[in-house]
Amino acid sequence: MSRHPADPRSRIIVVGAGIAGLTAAFRLQTLGYDVTVLECEDHVGGRMRTISHQGYRLDLGAIWLSQGYSHMLSLASDAGLTAHIEPTSSTIGLVRDGLVHRLRLDRRSDLARTRLLSMRSKVRALALLRDGAKARPLLSWDDLSTAAQLDSEDARAYALRRLNPELLDYLIDPLSRVCYFLPPEQVSAAGIHIGMSTLFGAGTFNFTDGIDTLPRLLADQLTVTLGARVIHVRQNTNGVQVRWEDAQRHRRTENAAACVLAVPAPTAANLVPDLPDTHRDYLAGLEYLHGAHIYFGVTRPVEEEATFVVFPTRENPHVSYVVFHPRCSPGRVPPGHGLVTIKLDGELGEKHRHTDDPQVAADALDCLDDVLPQAAHHIRSHLDMTFVHRWEQAIVHRSAGGYHLLQQFTGSYPSSSRIQFAGDHMSFSSTNAAIATGQSAAQRTAHALHREGKEMDELR
Ligand SMILES: Cc1cc2nc3c(=O)[nH]c(=O)nc-3n(C[C@H](O)[C@H](O)[C@H](O)COP(=O)(O)OP(=O)(O)OC[C@H]3O[C@@H](n4cnc5c(N)ncnc54)[C@H](O)[C@@H]3O)c2cc1C
Repeated sequence: MSRHPADPRSRIIVVGAGIAGLTAAFRLQTLGYDVTVLECEDHVGGRMRTISHQGYRLDLGAIWLSQGYSHMLSLASDAGLTAHIEPTSSTIGLVRDGLVHRLRLDRRSDLARTRLLSMRSKVRALALLRDGAKARPLLSWDDLSTAAQLDSEDARAYALRRLNPELLDYLIDPLSRVCYFLPPEQVSAAGIHIGMSTLFGAGTFNFTDGIDTLPRLLADQLTVTLGARVIHVRQNTNGVQVRWEDAQRHRRTENAAACVLAVPAPTAANLVPDLPDTHRDYLAGLEYLHGAHIYFGVTRPVEEEATFVVFPTRENPHVSYVVFHPRCSPGRVPPGHGLVTIKLDGELGEKHRHTDDPQVAADALDCLDDVLPQAAHHIRSHLDMTFVHRWEQAIVHRSAGGYHLLQQFTGSYPSSSRIQFAGDHMSFSSTNAAIATGQSAAQRTAHALHREGKEMDELR
């Protein structure tokens, strides 16, 4: 970030202690601002959250991290947290005709060698790699409105136009299910290049004690008030006024020079009563998909070389991925134990939104019987713990045209405003992209305050 000398009297309030908000707060504090983070929950991290449950550490939202997450790695380094990072296996499995085909994400040659795809499809896949190489300079993680140029059709139409039905079924569909929780026809084609460049080409890593290590230890370096539900944020002549309710439901009002709103888009729309209609409509109308993870703790790890096994819809419409610990991430299980996480999809995922936990867990195991019978048998024989976690607002949905709407929003929202937005709704639902948006919001806020400071000096 470029540095401006901060006016030490400039107080900034960041709303939301997810990774985007904590990043914005950390960057602004480093620039010398007096920053307070207000978080409505009793914990930090938002969707980057880990809980302890019966001796297991369960990552409830984000699970998987790429060595290509450059914003995350530099944040961890700047905050002195690299000692908490460990490289992990980059092997994933993709299923076809009941067989798991394993690939290392950091070895392009594995894609060339795999029996997952026919030789004809591998040759067609070169078009995908070429399109991806052209797309890469357009992918700016802090503001993916840059991807609008790739957003003229849905991912299925793109795959059928540029690739072939086999690549659609065994590469594009599973990618879409993993990254967007939806089939390709409901996802923008831009999402394919975003997903490919996120997943392929780099190894993986994780935090040693839970995905929440980063937000938790960042928060330790900041002033964070938990149980603080922000009710509204108004810009005035001196800066901003923030109204919030504490854990005892006492209302408070605070003034600050600026505010970064790092909450989900529909919440952000509600918090700023003076937003112009076009900006409010965009934020309020942005759709989030729900999602649930089902966890099975076992007294012996499942023998599976892949960290993730991913299922094309053709293989199973109900299960999109299964994650195996401790391979995927260290420090999550009691010594000698294993942990398997299942993500259900499609109609079953929809039905489970309103089903009780034991039934969801039983259905998930039944589904696993169909796709990985040995793993299902192992879980039944060594079961130690089950847990279900649901997210109502899991990830942002952008169908074809969605990046154009984002472009209209970011292109017209004033970068000089004392209220700036951060969060994955400005980009792609990943921890790294959320961090990039937090950094960028910090930068815009610092610029806005610096510019106003200079203008005031010139008036004096
Ligand atoms: C099931 C699932 C799986 C995922 N898998 C991965 C993965 O493997 N890898 C990956 O990189 N990413 C993954 N993601 C995406 C990633 O977790 C998110 O994109 C990222 O964490 C979003 O961060 P954020 O700060 O933008 O939002 P959030 O984490 O949602 O933070 C927003 C914060 O604002 C707070 N807040 C809301 N309203 C108010 C208010 N009125 N006042 C005060 N505070 C408020 C919330 O409590 C929350 O703490 C996954 C997400 C989910 C749900």
